[in-house]
Amino acid sequence: MLIDTHAHLNDERLLPIAGEIVSTMPQKGLGAIINVGFDRPSSELALSLAHTYEPLYAVVGIHPHDAKTATQDDYRYFESVSTDKKVVAIGEIGLDFYYDLSDRDVQQRVFIEQLELAHALKLPVVMHVRDAYGLALEILKENNRFLEYGGVMHCYAGSKELLKDFVSLGLHASFGGVITFKNFAKQEVVKSCPADRLLLETDCPYMTPVPYRGKTNMPEYISLVRDKIQEWRPDIDVESVTTQNAKRLFNI
Ligand SMILES: [Zn+2]
Ligand SMILES: [Zn+2]
Repeated sequence: MLIDTHAHLNDERLLPIAGEIVSTMPQKGLGAIINVGFDRPSSELALSLAHTYEPLYAVVGIHPHDAKTATQDDYRYFESVSTDKKVVAIGEIGLDFYYDLSDRDVQQRVFIEQLELAHALKLPVVMHVRDAYGLALEILKENNRFLEYGGVMHCYAGSKELLKDFVSLGLHASFGGVITFKNFAKQEVVKSCPADRLLLETDCPYMTPVPYRGKTNMPEYISLVRDKIQEWRPDIDVESVTTQNAKRLFNI
């Protein structure tokens, strides 16, 4: 059984077919899908999907792109739903200096505020970092008291060396469709990830794996990510190891 630890059925492209996707999960070997919010409305949607469909879970939070929209009222909402059994983490939070859709200082402030919030709510964190791994590491080191409940660097694209540092902070790394691309140059990173910190994700509808590039990504394509990692990691049973890791981290 596979777990897609990072999906967006709360995206308008997938929302209309969420029921259909859920109904085919058993035949696709998918045991659970964790839908991740990126702002207040998408967090609410992730949670309402999780209430509607048994194998779905929700992560609630403000993405670095949307950091400029974050309000105290949003944080109060995340707090109010934090004891809901279907809310399994705070995310996706972090830094995205590639798109820079929110000012960098605002991104940093909202990232740290949500690290603190997650800790107060006794939840792990799902992190989105792009073109800012060095600074993200610094922030996480300074705030490692907030990482007591663990977390994951989603769609990890940093170096092998930095991965070691994130792992030493107790964090996991999650890999998705990007690793199936022909030009993917970081096999060594996937190979170096400790087995007990490895997670699988699709980030659907984005990041569609080979051979479906150009189409909308779907949770079922996670099997392609599993197969690719299995090629590189004959030492472990990727499906069972990553499923155990996801269950432990997200307490599901
Ligand atoms: Zn992301
Ligand atoms: Zn995402």
